[in-house]
Amino acid sequence: MDTKAYIDLENEFGAHNYHPLDVVIASAKGVWVEDADGKKYMDFLSAYSAVNQGHCHPRILEALTGQAQKLTLTSRAFRNDRLGLFAKQLVELCEMEMMLPMNTGAEAVETAIKAARKWGYKVKGIAEEKAEIIVCKNNFHGRTTTIVGFATEDQYRDGFGPFTPGFKMIDYGDAKALESAINENTAAFIVEPIQGEGGILIPDDGYLQEVQKLCKENNVLFIADEVQTGLGRTGKLFAYMHEEGVKPDMLIIGKALSGGFYPVSAVVSSKEILGVFNPGDHGSTFGGNPLACAVASEALHVLTEEELPKRSAELGQYLMEKLETIDKKYIKELRGRGLFIGIELKDEARGARRFCEFLQEEGLLAKETHDNVIRLAPPLVITKKEIDWAFERIKKALETL
Ligand SMILES: *Cc1c(COP(=O)(O)O)cnc(C)c1O
Repeated sequence: MDTKAYIDLENEFGAHNYHPLDVVIASAKGVWVEDADGKKYMDFLSAYSAVNQGHCHPRILEALTGQAQKLTLTSRAFRNDRLGLFAKQLVELCEMEMMLPMNTGAEAVETAIKAARKWGYKVKGIAEEKAEIIVCKNNFHGRTTTIVGFATEDQYRDGFGPFTPGFKMIDYGDAKALESAINENTAAFIVEPIQGEGGILIPDDGYLQEVQKLCKENNVLFIADEVQTGLGRTGKLFAYMHEEGVKPDMLIIGKALSGGFYPVSAVVSSKEILGVFNPGDHGSTFGGNPLACAVASEALHVLTEEELPKRSAELGQYLMEKLETIDKKYIKELRGRGLFIGIELKDEARGARRFCEFLQEEGLLAKETHDNVIRLAPPLVITKKEIDWAFERIKKALETL
């Protein structure tokens, strides 16, 4: 079968809830992927930062196949010999006290919402049914009905109401707005330290420090959604670490937690907060399964032993310096932290999609976000030489199209 045949099949039998670039990937290794016709591309999206460790990392692959031959699923009706070890490893890495494992990022966000509400009622003493959670405009936290209910992207919501009440919307990056929005019923503030899907938007320095201070003063939980920005992507283990002294009450992680092998997510927090869950309050058949734990555990070992956060910081700066030299005829702004870079285009550029299609022709796979931003987020195992290779193509696209 060739590329066209695969695309036709997918279009005929799969719901059209995505608009992918028409490349049919059949295999991959590290930063490189190969399509069904044998053409090679460099991956500059990393499955939205789920493959920070590179495609099919040999160590994670070995953990996966080894565990798959022993035990894959017990459900949490029984215990398994991997969950405790993984929980300890993750909690220690995050310098927290407790974790709750789920599968997808959206499920971890849902878990954080449930924990925050229950904490609000049982610990903070919010009146019944009154708990509020503050979120930011232009956010991305996933696609469940509750989560899209507090999205501001029209398309995410259109046709999916009625939505869950109890969420309040403020401007991103505006600590004053948070201060005005907090009241005695506020249980939590959920924020992305950098808005990824929103267009790689980086708040002003000091924003998270302000957020933390306001949350502490008002007994409000500070929840960081690090599903995309966490685990090395921005040049630190977590993006909140770019601001000194900041430590969220709850961390939501996913994507790279499994190095792309398997959906693994988690909420990591304190005993006070996750302690609100009693047996039967919350759960997931696959959450915390031994295969997921083995994969995630190795994915974290790879992340630390290969010093991927540091690589991201160094190579991100290297790539950014090169991007600054590109002619500015189409570029409105370059933003980034580590290997998490957004090129915002001027109106004259007529959208980011055509640049991504050009880059595809040139052998580089990048995905636009928000119509006018090209997102650059290669696997963190990329080498300097590979960045040079990619840069030549990006420069060509932005200067000759
Ligand atoms: C991708 C993402 C999610 C949702 O994760 P899924 O695994 O797609 O459910 C949540 N929050 C952020 C910030 C994300 O980037």
